Amino acid sequence: MSHLDPDRIALIALGEPMSLDESRHVEQCDDCTIDLFELRRTVIVGRSTVDMGDLESPPERVWDRIAAEVADLPDPVPTPDERLDADSAAPAAASRDESAPAPTQAPGTGSRSRALTRAMVGLAAGAALVLAIVGVWSFVRPAQVVEVAAATLAAFPDHPDAAGSAVVVEEADGERVVRVELDTEESEGDGYREVWLITADASALVSLGILDGSEGEFAIPDDIDIHQYVLVDVSQEPLDGDPAHSGDSIVRGELDFA
Ligand SMILES: [Zn+2]
Repeated sequence: MSHLDPDRIALIALGEPMSLDESRHVEQCDDCTIDLFELRRTVIVGRSTVDMGDLESPPERVWDRIAAEVADLPDPVPTPDERLDADSAAPAAASRDESAPAPTQAPGTGSRSRALTRAMVGLAAGAALVLAIVGVWSFVRPAQVVEVAAATLAAFPDHPDAAGSAVVVEEADGERVVRVELDTEESEGDGYREVWLITADASALVSLGILDGSEGEFAIPDDIDIHQYVLVDVSQEPLDGDPAHSGDSIVRGELDFA
């Protein structure tokens, strides 16, 4: 496996889990370990304070390696593939035909330093990415979800063991969603279950959709006033092609507004 991609290192530093291959590589690779360590510290400093003065200087040996790299500049600008090839370059060079012109430097050295250049560039790019992400996070707070109503759903006589609950939340974009849970030992049989909102006097109702399994989330249409449609109902529906309520309610409850 080649070195970890700088973008992956940045994401891992931000808390994404490593794959098995990635963690195996990092265990064995000093370069990637250092990259990851530096970026994690950047993330911690970035999250805890905006005072960038807290960032420590890189260790002396990092500057030594950069200085050595600058002294070695005649190397052509590396192509993206060269970093991938760096790890396998030495064996390939060693097995070259004897008649080939002798390389001007020890096999692998150039690739290794080019790889280092790329690692440093990658580290800088990764650090910039982390700072950008941390910066954005500090301005864009996680979307607020507000609970606006809830209901306990009680069983109808034909479904004595059933129970349920419903919670209406309003998301940051204004969309209202009702989360419905149904607890029952009964099977759906040949039919299916459907979630409804019904007015208090049962004069009007609207279907929110099919409840697949024991819980589901349903968007409430914009034109539905939940202060009118206060009853949450889950019905057992036969496969008869009739979109109307079957009249066979399993559970129902009235919304209680926060
Ligand atoms: Zn590595």
